[in-house]
Amino acid sequence: MAEVAAGSPTLRVCALYPDLMNIYADRGNLLMLARRCEWRGLGFAVMAAGLGEGVDPDAHDLFYLGGGQDRDQRLCALDLVRTKSEALHAAADRGALLLGVCGGYQLLGHRYALAGEEIPGLGLVELETIRSDGPRLIGNVAIEVELDGPDGGRRVLAGFENHAGHTHLAAGEQPLGRVLKGHGNTGSSGLEGVRRRNVVGTYLHGPLLPKNAWFADWLIATALGLDALDPLDDTFEDAAHAEARRAAGV
Ligand code: GLN
Repeated sequence: MAEVAAGSPTLRVCALYPDLMNIYADRGNLLMLARRCEWRGLGFAVMAAGLGEGVDPDAHDLFYLGGGQDRDQRLCALDLVRTKSEALHAAADRGALLLGVCGGYQLLGHRYALAGEEIPGLGLVELETIRSDGPRLIGNVAIEVELDGPDGGRRVLAGFENHAGHTHLAAGEQPLGRVLKGHGNTGSSGLEGVRRRNVVGTYLHGPLLPKNAWFADWLIATALGLDALDPLDDTFEDAAHAEARRAAGV
């Protein structure tokens, strides 16, 4: 493991339900953050918060909630609302980053409605998800996003999606990006994900960050409040990104 340079900040991550909400190798997203911090001499610390465990809103710079099957999602949703909702709202209010991927993204909203049942969400953003009886939205996907701050500008995120839920953003809520190829939130809205300030949700798996190193860096810099990060040799990461774009046809 690389040394942490003296005086360097530490990215403090809280992984929510890493054992239950982790389909499509969500763990790779955490590893990506860890490595890119370590390679730059930045500190990295990850703490898991599972069922029944509270979280400290002030102890983490980034909260991560990955994807899950409906069954695991139901279990985590009830626990999230019961034991972590207040802390996560406080964390979002003070500017910590919250990243939800797929099932985790759905739980950032108000509800995930399945036949005859409603799974509650955190209500951090104004959206709801409705499980469709139609075909699942599956495939390679690429979206165009425009982010402010470090390494911002117009960029492409590429990944893979697989969800039965269709996510509807309320009026005024902004998507993370516009669909270039793939389905996105509903298969027809042309919108993908959500972003309200530091709360970000997306359907992109892959896992997301190894295929989009620039976005991992955006998260690190934003979470730590840094203007810029030291450049890395991204030969392999650029190839992974190019391949994900190629797979999506962009
Ligand atoms: N269970 C949710 C759905 O099918 C989320 C799936 C996922 O996280 N891949 O919509």
